[in-house]
Amino acid sequence: MTPAATVDDEPLTAATVLLVDDDAVTLLMTAAALRERGFVIREATSGEEAIQSLVQSPPDVVVLDAMMPGLDGFDTCRELRTLPGFESLPVLMLTGLDDDASINRAYEAGATDFFVKSPQWSLLAGRLRYLLRSARTRQELERSKAKLARAQDLARMGSFDWRRGHSGLVFSVEGLRVFGMGPHEALSFRQALRLIPSEDRSTVLGILHDVIRHNSVLATDLRATLPDGRLRIVHVEAEPEFSDSGTLVGYTGVVQDVTDRRMAEDKIRHLANFDALTGLPNRRQLSWRVERALEHARRLGHQVGVLLIDLDRFKNVNDTLGHAAGDDLLLEVSRRLRSCVRHSDQVLESSLESMGGRWHRTLEAVGRFGGDEFIALLPEVSDEGDAERVAQRILEQMRQPITVAGEECFVTASVGIALYPRDGHNVADLLRNSDVAMYAAKALGRNAASVYRPQLAGKGREKLTLESDLHKAIERNELVLHYQPKIDVRTARMVGAEALMRWSRNGQLVPPGDFIPLAEESGLIIPLSEWAIREAARQARLWQDSFGFAESIAVNLPTRLFERTDLVEHIHSAVTAYGVPHSAIELEITETGLMKEVHDVIKSLHRLNEIGVEISIDDFGTGYSSLAYLTTLPISELKVDRSFVRDLGLTPQSTAVVTAIIALARSLGLRVIAEGVETLRQMEVLHRLGCGLMQGYLFSRPLPAEDIEHWLQQTVLPRKAPWIVPADEAQAPVEAALPGIPVPSVKPRP
Ligand code: C2E
Ligand code: CA
Ligand code: CA
Repeated sequence: MTPAATVDDEPLTAATVLLVDDDAVTLLMTAAALRERGFVIREATSGEEAIQSLVQSPPDVVVLDAMMPGLDGFDTCRELRTLPGFESLPVLMLTGLDDDASINRAYEAGATDFFVKSPQWSLLAGRLRYLLRSARTRQELERSKAKLARAQDLARMGSFDWRRGHSGLVFSVEGLRVFGMGPHEALSFRQALRLIPSEDRSTVLGILHDVIRHNSVLATDLRATLPDGRLRIVHVEAEPEFSDSGTLVGYTGVVQDVTDRRMAEDKIRHLANFDALTGLPNRRQLSWRVERALEHARRLGHQVGVLLIDLDRFKNVNDTLGHAAGDDLLLEVSRRLRSCVRHSDQVLESSLESMGGRWHRTLEAVGRFGGDEFIALLPEVSDEGDAERVAQRILEQMRQPITVAGEECFVTASVGIALYPRDGHNVADLLRNSDVAMYAAKALGRNAASVYRPQLAGKGREKLTLESDLHKAIERNELVLHYQPKIDVRTARMVGAEALMRWSRNGQLVPPGDFIPLAEESGLIIPLSEWAIREAARQARLWQDSFGFAESIAVNLPTRLFERTDLVEHIHSAVTAYGVPHSAIELEITETGLMKEVHDVIKSLHRLNEIGVEISIDDFGTGYSSLAYLTTLPISELKVDRSFVRDLGLTPQSTAVVTAIIALARSLGLRVIAEGVETLRQMEVLHRLGCGLMQGYLFSRPLPAEDIEHWLQQTVLPRKAPWIVPADEAQAPVEAALPGIPVPSVKPRP
């Protein structure tokens, strides 16, 4: 019993032997002989003494003389066995020769073995060693059995055995515990079956039948209602056993309560597949569900509808009421969406594959795709109309005000519809096309549903993402005006500036050509232009304060804005807000635009003129103006289009056009300015033709307000004007063109 005797590398002979004999001589001799053979010997001369001694300190083996006065060997052995912990202590009974009766009595009394008293000490020592070895093996076995039981218990696992025919099903104690039964209870096959909920029973029986018929391995999970009423999930695994002749005799296997594990797995699965905020299936789960619905539809030959629902202007709510309110809103939206697709349009699919796909569960057909995007899956639709009806129901539901953070919000949604198989054969195509359709709905002005059409593809997202970003650009302060000085080359002074819009998007400056056309298409140009006017007025004020700037800043406006009756009011309020005169703002309108809508804009032009806002006709020369109109329009300036300036001196027509424009302007009493001046030669020619106002890279690129301040500071042109190039690069002398301006490096005309 002491560990010392069982440690592997310790020789068994170091084991402690309790030697009990009333005969002092035998005791002495036996002890001496065993000591000689490496045993540690303790002696006792009576049964009583022996009991006392071993209680105090248990030996590894007891050698008992059968015949003793008082408590004899048999009684001592019997008594010893009743003591706790001594049930399996090896006891060797020393009997007389051929004393069959004693041998039997010895075994009955619980002795492990007997030895006929003799002076053959080596034999005795050998027998003791054998006893000790087998005791050790048994102890180890018991210990690992205990360990196994504990492990099984911890794993809520137990074993069972099923024999074909009479003996039937037998569970281990641990196996019984899995089913909530005590160690002494029995669980017959019939009783076990009764623990399985009735709705699962025939399924389980079916599985068992199959397995036995094919002599195959059993591995399944089943639900069991324990006697205390708890519902558990039990994993059963068993292997068939065969007789020598190869017939199935039974199954042995394990049962394990996997409820906790299953719950943990379910939780993980849930977290991975469902949106934490709304509890709706997430993107991943949705894709899976659409996939299942498509499989089903393929088999049964019906159509599937995928609706992509995107909230309109959700960001507004988030930004103005905060994220918590945004979350509340999303929750309410998901509730409404669910109510729209519930009952009639749900997917019925088998889930919980681990249950062999036999548990049926209704799948939500609405999921959150991300942010403010939701998906409604219609697993069976008969036509496009079906899907559109659901979409209308959704739009209708959304229209009701939602109260969040104590405020009534109105949220609308845009819905894109794609149908299987018409608009796509797989999940990816259907999702993409519903997205395209949704963006088409947005383009229609939002709060609408659109069905996918092939011609929509290609437009859509990118452009509309740009659009929606642009929409937010103003709020996010992402727009900036750069300024390009207008130069009077005769005085070399800045006589005004043109404001050119830039959009700083994701850290990059987007040129107006990339977003102005889009802004015009979508109507965003109106708030953009209004912002530009305000911003220009603000800048005029800053420059006025710092540099005494009294010129005007030209803002480019599309014709559309001139059609608006409130343009004048808007300009008026912008300039008064910053305390600058109306003349601080000049407006540029393109010739083409003006000519197209001249009737609609003429009134505005007059009113603007009345309040002192000057009008410049941009890109002049490209729009085939009706000269008759020009004479009647209240305009102040013609801006020679860049293309003519570029070709000046290169093509005779350019020079002719520019000459004509200058002449026209002069006759109408209008200023003329040339844009896109890049070279000295162009400047020289323009000047010679009589155009002294210029704008172009030669002087300055459009720059942030701070960067053109040196133009505002200087009253006299510096000795080395920025546009003056070394003489050998100059294509024409300019001295004459710049009277009074020192241009030392330029050669005079020959
Ligand atoms: P635009 O009104 O004709 O503006 C002049 C364009 O010529 C500007 O391009 C300017 O950077 C560029 N430019 C100036 N000097 C030179 C030069 O020497 N050489 C060359 N090659 N180009 C020169 P930007 O800034 O890219 O603007 C392009 C167009 O976008 C503008 O043409 C205007 O139609 C529009 N735009 C710019 N800002 C606004 C705005 O605030 N509102 C509206 N509605 N349109 C704007
Ligand atoms: Ca312009
Ligand atoms: Ca222009």
